[in-house]
Amino acid sequence: MTAIVWIRRNLREYDNTAIIKAAEEHRKVIPVYIVDKKYFREQTLGYPRVKFWRESLTELKQNLLRHKSKDLVIRHGEPLEKLESLVQETEADALYFNRDYTPYSRKRDKEIIERLEIPVKTFKDHVMFEKDEILTEKETPYKVYGYYKRKWFQREKRKPQEPEDYSVPVVDSSHIPTLEELGFQKPDHMNEVWSGGRKEGLKRLENFKQQIGAYKNQRDYPAKDATSKLSPHIKFGTVSIREIYWESERTRRNQATEGIETWQEELAWRDFYYQVLWHNPQTVNRPFLEQYNNLDWRSKEDVEEVWKRFVNGKTGFPFVDAGMRQLKQTGWMHNRLRMLVTSFACKDLWLDWKDVHDYYKKMFIDADIASMVGGIQWAYSIGTDAQPYFRVFNPTSHAEKYDPDGEYIKKWVPELQNIPESYLYTPWRMPEYVQQNADIIIGKDYPEPIVNHDERRKEAIERFEKANENQKN
Ligand SMILES: Cc1cc2nc3c(=O)[nH]c(=O)nc-3n(C[C@H](O)[C@H](O)[C@H](O)COP(=O)(O)OP(=O)(O)OC[C@H]3O[C@@H](n4cnc5c(N)ncnc54)[C@H](O)[C@@H]3O)c2cc1C
Repeated sequence: MTAIVWIRRNLREYDNTAIIKAAEEHRKVIPVYIVDKKYFREQTLGYPRVKFWRESLTELKQNLLRHKSKDLVIRHGEPLEKLESLVQETEADALYFNRDYTPYSRKRDKEIIERLEIPVKTFKDHVMFEKDEILTEKETPYKVYGYYKRKWFQREKRKPQEPEDYSVPVVDSSHIPTLEELGFQKPDHMNEVWSGGRKEGLKRLENFKQQIGAYKNQRDYPAKDATSKLSPHIKFGTVSIREIYWESERTRRNQATEGIETWQEELAWRDFYYQVLWHNPQTVNRPFLEQYNNLDWRSKEDVEEVWKRFVNGKTGFPFVDAGMRQLKQTGWMHNRLRMLVTSFACKDLWLDWKDVHDYYKKMFIDADIASMVGGIQWAYSIGTDAQPYFRVFNPTSHAEKYDPDGEYIKKWVPELQNIPESYLYTPWRMPEYVQQNADIIIGKDYPEPIVNHDERRKEAIERFEKANENQKN
């Protein structure tokens, strides 16, 4: 009896539910990865994520070969066609894979389940709880995170597992394409792109466990580097969600409970957004709050200069610019900045959230549709349990609060390194002689603010209020 396990984004063998189940029920298991070049062309993918994916896939294949005398079969092409031919070649009896939840994957997987001539079994692996597992008393999906979270914490959580032993028959395998073959090159503006692979993921987890107790108090200060930075590993499944949850539980002996639980709450946010996407697949294109579907956002083509200044970190608001430059140079941005810059894109620049989404999708090393749509719609005040539209982040006071020493700003906006502390958050207020002393001219070496925040804040609130009025009429 032979099962094919189609590996997609769970790039590990340990605690991989589809492998565990296949190995339990079949003597022979064929793990296969299908590289669909069409996907690389059609999706807005960027260098950091493709590099991370490739390194993780390569490491998985090498680990299976070197340590386990097994293989990961690589095929190139369209998934249904490649699976059909693999079934014919190997006379496999069943196909196993872990479920995915984006509209794109759901459509693809449905077709495969319907058209493949062998039984297909799918599994929950990527999240702790999925679909309808956590519902309200009225059996409807939760729209408010706080209530969802309470149940998330109460529910029993499976422990990670090693698959039983299995053998992999010899099957033809292709190579893993290079980045060049896929059409990706390291852009000049990127200088600190993270490495992929399970080994690196486990190292990060170990490091983070030593400091998880401080997470609650320090996570909002980007200069402190107090978050796990596990997001691309979670996205590509080089570590499993159960594994990291239970590893965080193990730190209860020597780390502060408040830090551990606040971190676990983030894992619950992730599940929350996955279930929002599952029940509302339309949110990839439309706001969850329908009344905001016709807001007159400005497209990046309409305001080309504004768009360029935003993505290049040249808005003249130092904290916003620091966040956007961190993203541009590394492919990752701290959560506090993701909230601030996205709020700024909305309330200050009135940029179309879908343009922002496409940019993030290309740039984020951890781009994950559920969390990204959830996060953007939260900051734009158009999503589930979103930031209310009238509560607008102030880019200056936000910086004073979350970067009190200016360390983060100075790292990512080095031209501000020498200006007096009192002007770090408002460089445009520097008198000319101070600018000359600090060797920086505002408007030349660093931009004037792109907007008047107070005016833009008022205008944005009025636009939201008008949309609310229209809905009532
Ligand atoms: C506008 C916006 C867009 C975002 N886009 C993404 C995205 O594409 N991919 C992504 O993984 N996260 C996204 N997030 C959530 C969050 O910013 C990142 O998960 C986090 O910054 C990753 O860093 P970390 O691994 O150090 O997180 P930690 O603070 O260590 O958190 C641990 C894990 O919990 C999950 N998590 C943390 N915060 C959130 C959250 N608010 N929502 C959902 N899951 C969360 C992530 O998997 C993260 O790795 C977005 C947030 C916003 C506001």
